[in-house]
Amino acid sequence: MRLAHFAVFVSFSAMAAGSVQAKAVSEADLRAHIEILASDAFEGRKPGTEGEAKTVQYIAQQWATSGLKPAATDGGWFDAVPLIQRGQGSAEYAFTAKGRKLRIVSEEIILIGKQVDYARNDLPLIFTGAGVKADGSVAADVAGKAALVLFDAENVPNNMKSPRARREALIAAGAEAVIFIGDGQGSWPSLRRLLLSRPIALESREKRAPLEGAMSAEFAVAMITAAGQDWDKLRAHAKASDYAGEPLGIDADFKVTTDIYRFNSSNVVGKIAGRKKGSGAVLFMGHWDHLGICAPEGAPDRICNGAVDNASGIAVLNEIAESLAKKKHDRDIYFVATTAEESGLLGAYAFAEKPALPLDQIVISLNVDTIAIAPRGSKVAIIGRGTTPYDATVEAVAKKTGRAIESSTDANAFIQRQDGWALAQKGVPALMVGGSFADLELMQKFLGSDYHGPDDELTDKTELGGAADDADLHIALGRYFADARKYKSKKAGE
Ligand SMILES: [Zn+2]
Repeated sequence: MRLAHFAVFVSFSAMAAGSVQAKAVSEADLRAHIEILASDAFEGRKPGTEGEAKTVQYIAQQWATSGLKPAATDGGWFDAVPLIQRGQGSAEYAFTAKGRKLRIVSEEIILIGKQVDYARNDLPLIFTGAGVKADGSVAADVAGKAALVLFDAENVPNNMKSPRARREALIAAGAEAVIFIGDGQGSWPSLRRLLLSRPIALESREKRAPLEGAMSAEFAVAMITAAGQDWDKLRAHAKASDYAGEPLGIDADFKVTTDIYRFNSSNVVGKIAGRKKGSGAVLFMGHWDHLGICAPEGAPDRICNGAVDNASGIAVLNEIAESLAKKKHDRDIYFVATTAEESGLLGAYAFAEKPALPLDQIVISLNVDTIAIAPRGSKVAIIGRGTTPYDATVEAVAKKTGRAIESSTDANAFIQRQDGWALAQKGVPALMVGGSFADLELMQKFLGSDYHGPDDELTDKTELGGAADDADLHIALGRYFADARKYKSKKAGE
């Protein structure tokens, strides 16, 4: 495998040397950026921390030095992204059946409100099994009720294993409260951890019930048994494919306070102004954020530095910017370093909501994420293959830079897991192009080991060869798509 790569590399690099090219991006160029961005001083680049301040300053300063102009909506470098976190405050609750208050010894319940204060009396509880049917629809009449949902039910559709998807379906069906039951092995601790982790959200896109939470199986069994119901029977009923839930004959009183923390994070936005006004724009993006302090107190290394994910992508973005800014181009070339990708592409969604340029002006958007995986001479995969008119064009440009093409659509498995997806939802042609998603075995090796852990650090072994190749490829793509003679855009009316 490696030998084959080596042979490919030699023959193609000989070809590349023959054509007129910008100075190639080196592994050392990339390493210099990653060394800073993934250093402990940047604390894992979590939104809202000192690490964010250092990161966005570093990016803006790099882009300014390269000759980019600030291009956020207010003319500066930074577009504010309003984020929100919720944490557990206090909770009082009582459950009543047939006018009798239920005695529940367990205290394993966590309740978090949408607003700071939540109070409701006589809220009827309905047991919904998995919460949704195989087709993802909600059969139970949950409107105005508190829906109890089995976290680990066997018949949860594959694409709705995450609590989020089922929660949102139940909210859309009108549930007043959505409370998961940690019924499987280890699921209560993981639900608990999830709820108490103060997950970051973009308030404008949130779909939340007035009250959400989780209880342990122990709590649920105690409550349901005290109400004279049979837990095992309920669980057995819930296995039916047409299960429509069962009212439990239990009413709940809730008085819950929630800690709410709102803060602004930043997308960094810069541009190289084109010389042909109105000819559209090429957009490069990559997320600067990572997970911050991610290991518990006392762990030998507590910082998730995110060297590969995604200091490597920002390093490549910086090098693309530096190279492309040396020449004039017809179209504007935008660079966006997004925040809060790790919390669900939030910075990218915020950009799509309030873009620094009209979205219909974007000829192509190219996202750069987790790029330091593959060695030199790797094939080029396209995430988003088949979703834009550009596959053949991108392949032709890639071949010119000496790269071979991975023509399968396997890499599309990652299409929803990267920032370009947020723009694609608004009709922007959005691709992610490069070597790191061409060899999915190599990618899976990373995802199954250092990924999202303290070991995603820059070391002597960090593979930057493929990232350097990909930087050159993106520079070539930028030059091609920003050239109004080479690439005529229907969008720009040419
Ligand atoms: Zn990540």
